[in-house]
Amino acid sequence: MLDNMNFYNFMHKQILIVIALFISTGAGYIYMGILYSSFLPELLWFILLLGVSYWGYSLYRIYLNINLNIQDKENWLQDLRYFLFTYFSLWTIMFIMYTSRDSIELHYIAIATQLGVSVVSATVLVSQKKLVIITLASLMLPLTIYFIIVGTFYSYLLAFFSVVLGGVLLYAARNTFNYLVKSQYQAYHDYLTSLGNRRYFIEQLEDAIKVQKQDKRDIYLLLIDLDHFKTINDSLGHDIGDILLREVAKRMHTLCKKYNNNVSRLGGDEFCILSSSFQNKEDCLQSGVDFAKELLEVIKQSYIIEGHHLYISASIGVSLITNPQMKASTFIKEADIAMYEAKSQGRDGIMLFSEELSTRVERKLEVERLLHFALENKEISLVYQPQMNGKDEIIGCEVLVRWHNEQLGHVGPGEFIPISEQTGLIIELGHYILEESFKTLREWEGKGIILQQFSINISMRQLFHNTFVQEVEELSSIYLTKELCSKIVFEITETSVAEDINQLIHNMNTLKSFGIRFSMDDFGTGYSSLSYLRQLPLNELKIDRSFVCELDSTSPDGSMIKTILDISRNLNLSTVAEGVETLKQKEFLIENNCDILQGYYLAKPMKKEAFEKLVL
Ligand code: C2E
Ligand code: CA
Repeated sequence: MLDNMNFYNFMHKQILIVIALFISTGAGYIYMGILYSSFLPELLWFILLLGVSYWGYSLYRIYLNINLNIQDKENWLQDLRYFLFTYFSLWTIMFIMYTSRDSIELHYIAIATQLGVSVVSATVLVSQKKLVIITLASLMLPLTIYFIIVGTFYSYLLAFFSVVLGGVLLYAARNTFNYLVKSQYQAYHDYLTSLGNRRYFIEQLEDAIKVQKQDKRDIYLLLIDLDHFKTINDSLGHDIGDILLREVAKRMHTLCKKYNNNVSRLGGDEFCILSSSFQNKEDCLQSGVDFAKELLEVIKQSYIIEGHHLYISASIGVSLITNPQMKASTFIKEADIAMYEAKSQGRDGIMLFSEELSTRVERKLEVERLLHFALENKEISLVYQPQMNGKDEIIGCEVLVRWHNEQLGHVGPGEFIPISEQTGLIIELGHYILEESFKTLREWEGKGIILQQFSINISMRQLFHNTFVQEVEELSSIYLTKELCSKIVFEITETSVAEDINQLIHNMNTLKSFGIRFSMDDFGTGYSSLSYLRQLPLNELKIDRSFVCELDSTSPDGSMIKTILDISRNLNLSTVAEGVETLKQKEFLIENNCDILQGYYLAKPMKKEAFEKLVL
C-alpha cells in the first residue's frame, strides 16, 4: 500500500506550477473584460484568484520552511486539497459568468478554458484519487449541463462528448496514478522481501526523529545482521539463500506487526527495525531489549526450504533515538557499532549501544587502520623473555612482539594480535615475526649463545593458513640448520584445537618433521580436554599465568598447578610456568618439579641486545 508520505513532495512541487499557470491565464480574462467592456467582474474575479494564489503560496512556504513530521504533513496535505479544489472551482465561476453573457465568442472562450482547466486538473491532481474525481466532476459537469441547455442536436452531441472526455481524463489520471504507485513502490521497497528498502527506512527514521523532537518520546532502533548467511548462499546456492531471506523477513514482519514496529531490509542480510514511541527512556530500552530477544528466538527457529533443514541466528545491535539533534545516519551507525560488537562477541546475541562501546570500537578501528602501516613504517619489534630451569640457568626464551606507534604510543600484543587475526593482517605480521625470530636465533648461535629452546607464539589463523607450513619450510631453509630448527618451539593456544583438529594434527606433524616442537600455551584456560592432549603431537604444556597468580591468593595450596603438572608428566610433556612474579611462586614450582619458569620475577621481556648481555 502506498501512503501519502511519498506524495507530499510530488504535490509540493506542483503548487508553484499551477499558480504560475493560473495567474498568467487569469490575466487574459482582464484583457477580455477590456475588450467586451465589462471590466469590473473580471477584475474582481482576478483579485479573488490572486487571493487564493497567495493561500497556495503560503502552503508552499509552510512545506519549505518548517520541519514537518508525518502528522503535520498529513494536515498540510489536507489543507492543500482544500486549496486546490477552491482554486480549480474559480474557473467554474468564470465559466458560468461568461456562458450567461450574450456574446458567443465569450461562450467559446469559457468552454475552451473549462476544457483546458479540466486537463490541467487531471494532470496535476493525479496523485489524489478522490480529489481528481471531485474536481473533474465539478469542472466537466457545468460544461455538460451547458451543452444540454443549448438544446440543439449538435450541443447534445457535445454534451455526450464532454462526458466521454471527462471519463477519458479520469481514466488517464488513474493510469498515471497506478504507474506512479508502482514506481514509488519500486523506489521504496525491496524486490525480494517486499519490505521497505534503505531509502524508505532513512525517510521513516528522519520523520521519527522529527516526532521525537516535538513529542520528546523515545524510539528504539534495531540493526539485525544474519550470522554466516554467506555460508548458506555459498553452499546451497543463491536461490535457497533468497527463499531463506524471504522467510526471515516474513517472520520479522509478523512479529513487528504485533508490536507496531516497522521492519526494512537495508540490503544483503541486514535488516532494520524502528519502534513506535515510548514515554520514557527506561521503558524504551527495556522494550527494545525484550523485543530483540523475542525476535532472535523467532529467527532461530528452524526453516525447511526445499527439503533442507536450515538454522540461522542473528547479531542484533540496539540503539535509542533520544537525541533529536543527531542525524539519521548517526543512529544507524550506533546500532551498527553495537551489532558488530555482538558479532565479535561470538554472534547470536544482542548488544546495546553505549558511549563506552563507541570509544572501544573507535579505538579498535584506529588500531586496525594504523596497524596496516606498522610493518612498512618499521614500528614492529621483538623482545625476548628468558625461560629458566630450577637452577636459575637460562635455557630458552619466548619471543614476544611489540608495536610502537607515533600516534597511539605503545600498543600491547594482547590488543593488536586479535585485531590482526580478525583482519587477516596476522599472516603478514606472523611471517615477519617468524623471519626476525629465525634471524635472531641464527645470529645468537654465531655469537655462542646456545639455548635449549626458542619459543614463538603462533596464532590460530596463521597456523591454519594454507601457505604456513610452506612458509616455515622456506624460512628455516634460509636461516636455520637442522640443529637450530630443533630448538624452535611453536606456542599454540587451545582455541586452535576447537577449529579443526584433524587439519591441526596434520599441520603439526608436517612441521614436526622439520624438527619443530610444540607447546600448548595458556593451558587450562580454554577448551581443555584430555582427549585432544593425547591426540596432538605436543612436547610442552605452559601453565597459564592465572594459575600461578592464584598461588598467592585463592589457591595457596596450588592444587590446580599440581594437577596440571601431573597431567603433563603422565603425557610425557615438559612443563613451563609463565607469569612467575614472586619468590614464593618460584619455590613452589621448583618444589613440584616444574621444568621451566618464566616471569617478571626472573626476567622481563627484553631487547635482543639486553638478552645477549644477560647470557654472555
Ligand atoms: P602469552 O603467550 O600468554 O604471553 C605471555 C604474556 O605474559 C606476555 O605478554 C608477557 O610479557 C607476559 N608476562 C610474562 N611474564 C609475566 C609476569 O610475570 N607477570 C605478568 N603480569 N605478565 C607476564 P605480552 O607480551 O603483552 O603478550 C600478550 C599476548 O600476546 C601473548 O600472551 C600472546 O598471546 C600474544 N603475543 C605476543 N607476542 C606474539 C607474537 O609474536 N605472535 C602471536 N601470534 N602472538 C603474540
Ligand atoms: Ca605464549
